[in-house]
Amino acid sequence: MKVTLVYDNTASKTGLLPDHGFSCFLEIENTPRILFDTGTRGETLLHNMQQLGVDPAAVDIIVISHAHWDHTGGLNALLRVNQTAILYLPSSFRPSLPDRRVVEVTTPIEITSNVFSTGELMRVEQSLVIKTNTGLVVISGCAHPGVDAILKAASSYGKVSALIGGLHGFREYDLLKDLDLVCACHCTANKAQIEAHHPDKWVEGGVGTIIEL
Ligand SMILES: [Zn+2]
Ligand SMILES: [Zn+2]
Repeated sequence: MKVTLVYDNTASKTGLLPDHGFSCFLEIENTPRILFDTGTRGETLLHNMQQLGVDPAAVDIIVISHAHWDHTGGLNALLRVNQTAILYLPSSFRPSLPDRRVVEVTTPIEITSNVFSTGELMRVEQSLVIKTNTGLVVISGCAHPGVDAILKAASSYGKVSALIGGLHGFREYDLLKDLDLVCACHCTANKAQIEAHHPDKWVEGGVGTIIEL
Protein backbone atom coordinates (compact mmCIF):
# COMPACT_ATOMS: atom_id res chain seq x y z
CA MET A 1 0.00 0.00 0.00
CA LYS A 2 0.98 3.62 -0.48
CA VAL A 3 0.34 6.55 1.85
CA THR A 4 0.77 10.08 0.46
CA LEU A 5 0.67 13.01 2.88
CA VAL A 6 -1.35 15.74 1.13
CA TYR A 7 -1.77 18.14 4.08
CA ASP A 8 0.67 18.68 6.91
CA ASN A 9 2.26 21.43 8.99
CA THR A 10 5.48 21.10 6.98
CA ALA A 11 6.23 20.29 3.34
CA SER A 12 8.88 17.89 2.11
CA LYS A 13 9.11 19.26 -1.44
CA THR A 14 8.92 22.70 -3.08
CA GLY A 15 5.67 23.57 -4.83
CA LEU A 16 3.66 22.01 -2.02
CA LEU A 17 1.95 24.16 0.58
CA PRO A 18 2.53 23.45 4.27
CA ASP A 19 -0.24 24.48 6.66
CA HIS A 20 -1.42 23.44 10.11
CA GLY A 21 -3.69 20.44 9.53
CA PHE A 22 -3.60 16.86 8.33
CA SER A 23 -4.75 14.76 5.40
CA CYS A 24 -3.39 11.70 3.68
CA PHE A 25 -4.36 9.65 0.62
CA LEU A 26 -4.28 5.87 0.78
CA GLU A 27 -3.84 3.54 -2.17
CA ILE A 28 -4.27 -0.08 -1.25
CA GLU A 29 -4.27 -2.95 -3.74
CA ASN A 30 -7.77 -4.00 -4.87
CA THR A 31 -9.35 -1.50 -2.47
CA PRO A 32 -11.29 1.75 -2.97
CA ARG A 33 -9.20 4.93 -2.74
CA ILE A 34 -9.39 6.55 0.68
CA LEU A 35 -8.76 10.11 1.83
CA PHE A 36 -8.20 10.39 5.58
CA ASP A 37 -9.01 13.89 6.89
CA THR A 38 -9.09 17.06 4.78
CA GLY A 39 -6.76 19.60 6.42
CA THR A 40 -7.74 23.18 7.23
CA ARG A 41 -8.24 24.99 3.91
CA GLY A 42 -9.89 23.55 0.83
CA GLU A 43 -7.73 25.57 -1.56
CA THR A 44 -4.54 24.28 0.02
CA LEU A 45 -5.82 20.70 0.06
CA LEU A 46 -6.80 20.75 -3.62
CA HIS A 47 -3.52 22.47 -4.60
CA ASN A 48 -1.43 19.83 -2.86
CA MET A 49 -3.52 16.97 -4.26
CA GLN A 50 -3.12 18.34 -7.76
CA GLN A 51 0.66 18.76 -7.34
CA LEU A 52 0.90 15.18 -6.08
CA GLY A 53 -1.22 13.74 -8.87
CA VAL A 54 -4.11 12.77 -6.62
CA ASP A 55 -7.46 13.26 -8.38
CA PRO A 56 -10.00 14.50 -5.79
CA ALA A 57 -12.90 13.25 -7.93
CA ALA A 58 -11.46 9.73 -7.79
CA VAL A 59 -11.56 9.44 -4.00
CA ASP A 60 -14.03 6.67 -3.14
CA ILE A 61 -14.08 6.92 0.65
CA ILE A 62 -13.53 9.93 2.92
CA VAL A 63 -12.76 9.22 6.56
CA ILE A 64 -12.74 12.08 9.07
CA SER A 65 -10.87 11.37 12.29
CA HIS A 66 -12.48 14.02 14.49
CA ALA A 67 -14.41 17.27 14.42
CA HIS A 68 -11.49 19.71 14.72
CA TRP A 69 -11.21 22.34 11.96
CA ASP A 70 -7.68 21.35 11.01
CA HIS A 71 -9.06 17.95 9.87
CA THR A 72 -12.47 18.96 8.51
CA GLY A 73 -11.74 22.39 6.95
CA GLY A 74 -11.19 21.10 3.41
CA LEU A 75 -14.24 18.83 3.35
CA ASN A 76 -16.71 21.20 1.65
CA ALA A 77 -14.24 22.10 -1.10
CA LEU A 78 -13.52 18.42 -1.66
CA LEU A 79 -17.21 17.53 -1.86
CA ARG A 80 -17.73 20.23 -4.49
CA VAL A 81 -15.43 18.31 -6.84
CA ASN A 82 -16.38 14.82 -5.66
CA GLN A 83 -20.03 13.84 -5.79
CA THR A 84 -19.72 10.14 -5.07
CA ALA A 85 -17.47 9.37 -2.11
CA ILE A 86 -18.92 7.64 0.93
CA LEU A 87 -18.14 9.45 4.18
CA TYR A 88 -17.18 7.75 7.44
CA LEU A 89 -17.64 10.37 10.15
CA PRO A 90 -17.27 10.07 13.91
CA SER A 91 -20.66 10.60 15.55
CA SER A 92 -19.30 13.74 17.28
CA PHE A 93 -18.95 15.43 13.86
CA ARG A 94 -22.28 16.28 12.25
CA PRO A 95 -21.92 18.59 9.28
CA SER A 96 -24.96 19.18 7.08
CA LEU A 97 -24.27 17.28 3.87
CA PRO A 98 -27.36 16.86 1.71
CA ASP A 99 -27.53 13.82 -0.55
CA ARG A 100 -24.37 12.21 0.72
CA ARG A 101 -23.87 8.67 1.84
CA VAL A 102 -22.66 9.01 5.42
CA VAL A 103 -21.74 6.24 7.82
CA GLU A 104 -21.74 7.46 11.41
CA VAL A 105 -19.00 5.72 13.38
CA THR A 106 -19.14 4.97 17.08
CA THR A 107 -17.96 1.37 17.55
CA PRO A 108 -15.14 -0.41 15.66
CA ILE A 109 -16.19 -1.31 12.10
CA GLU A 110 -14.83 -2.67 8.83
CA ILE A 111 -14.85 0.17 6.27
CA THR A 112 -13.81 -1.93 3.30
CA SER A 113 -11.80 -5.13 2.91
CA ASN A 114 -8.70 -4.97 5.13
CA VAL A 115 -9.53 -1.43 6.31
CA PHE A 116 -11.05 -0.83 9.73
CA SER A 117 -11.92 1.99 12.12
CA THR A 118 -10.91 1.77 15.77
CA GLY A 119 -14.34 3.27 16.47
CA GLU A 120 -14.80 6.69 18.02
CA LEU A 121 -12.50 6.41 21.02
CA MET A 122 -13.42 8.54 24.03
CA ARG A 123 -16.32 9.76 21.86
CA VAL A 124 -13.87 12.06 20.13
CA GLU A 125 -11.73 10.49 17.43
CA GLN A 126 -11.40 7.44 15.19
CA SER A 127 -8.17 6.08 13.74
CA LEU A 128 -7.80 3.93 10.63
CA VAL A 129 -6.34 0.45 10.73
CA ILE A 130 -5.14 -1.22 7.51
CA LYS A 131 -4.20 -4.89 7.37
CA THR A 132 -1.09 -5.57 5.29
CA ASN A 133 1.15 -8.62 4.83
CA THR A 134 3.65 -7.11 7.25
CA GLY A 135 1.22 -6.10 9.98
CA LEU A 136 -1.26 -3.34 10.74
CA VAL A 137 -0.77 0.24 9.62
CA VAL A 138 -2.49 2.74 11.93
CA ILE A 139 -3.34 6.27 10.72
CA SER A 140 -4.04 8.84 13.41
CA GLY A 141 -5.44 12.38 13.11
CA CYS A 142 -4.38 14.06 16.37
CA ALA A 143 -4.42 11.02 18.72
CA HIS A 144 -6.54 12.89 21.30
CA PRO A 145 -7.69 9.59 22.92
CA GLY A 146 -3.99 8.77 23.50
CA VAL A 147 -1.60 6.59 21.51
CA ASP A 148 -1.94 3.85 24.12
CA ALA A 149 -5.72 3.63 23.65
CA ILE A 150 -5.40 3.80 19.85
CA LEU A 151 -2.78 1.02 19.66
CA LYS A 152 -4.82 -1.13 22.05
CA ALA A 153 -7.97 -0.70 19.94
CA ALA A 154 -6.04 -1.39 16.72
CA SER A 155 -4.45 -4.50 18.23
CA SER A 156 -7.81 -6.24 18.23
CA TYR A 157 -7.19 -6.64 14.44
CA GLY A 158 -3.65 -8.05 14.78
CA LYS A 159 -0.10 -6.79 15.35
CA VAL A 160 0.55 -3.10 14.70
CA SER A 161 3.66 -2.47 12.59
CA ALA A 162 3.35 1.18 11.58
CA LEU A 163 1.92 4.41 12.99
CA ILE A 164 1.43 7.48 10.81
CA GLY A 165 -0.13 10.86 11.68
CA GLY A 166 -0.52 13.42 14.43
CA LEU A 167 0.37 12.27 17.94
CA HIS A 168 -0.23 15.52 19.85
CA GLY A 169 1.60 15.56 23.23
CA PHE A 170 2.61 11.88 23.10
CA ARG A 171 5.69 11.02 25.19
CA GLU A 172 5.31 7.37 26.26
CA TYR A 173 8.03 6.49 23.75
CA ASP A 174 8.31 2.83 24.80
CA LEU A 175 4.83 2.17 23.41
CA LEU A 176 6.39 2.29 19.94
CA LYS A 177 9.15 -0.23 20.58
CA ASP A 178 7.52 -3.13 18.71
CA LEU A 179 6.65 -1.10 15.62
CA ASP A 180 8.70 -1.09 12.39
CA LEU A 181 7.82 2.43 11.22
CA VAL A 182 6.75 5.69 12.86
CA CYS A 183 5.88 8.84 10.93
CA ALA A 184 4.72 11.31 13.56
CA CYS A 185 3.72 14.58 11.94
CA HIS A 186 1.07 17.34 12.09
CA CYS A 187 0.46 18.29 15.76
CA THR A 188 3.12 15.98 17.24
CA ALA A 189 4.87 18.09 19.89
CA ASN A 190 7.83 15.81 20.60
CA LYS A 191 8.98 14.79 17.12
CA ALA A 192 12.68 15.10 17.96
CA GLN A 193 12.33 12.96 21.07
CA ILE A 194 10.38 10.26 19.23
CA GLU A 195 13.02 10.19 16.50
CA ALA A 196 15.80 10.07 19.13
CA HIS A 197 14.16 7.09 20.84
CA HIS A 198 13.43 5.25 17.60
CA PRO A 199 15.82 6.43 14.88
CA ASP A 200 15.56 3.08 13.05
CA LYS A 201 11.77 3.42 12.72
CA TRP A 202 11.54 7.15 12.03
CA VAL A 203 10.17 8.57 8.78
CA GLU A 204 10.06 12.36 8.45
CA GLY A 205 6.56 13.63 7.60
CA GLY A 206 5.45 16.66 5.59
CA VAL A 207 3.26 17.26 2.54
CA GLY A 208 4.63 15.13 -0.28
CA THR A 209 6.01 12.38 1.92
CA ILE A 210 5.15 9.02 0.37
CA ILE A 211 5.33 5.87 2.45
CA GLU A 212 5.12 2.48 0.74
CA LEU A 213 4.34 -0.44 3.00
ZN1 LIG B 1 -5.06 18.32 14.42
ZN1 LIG C 1 -7.46 17.68 17.00
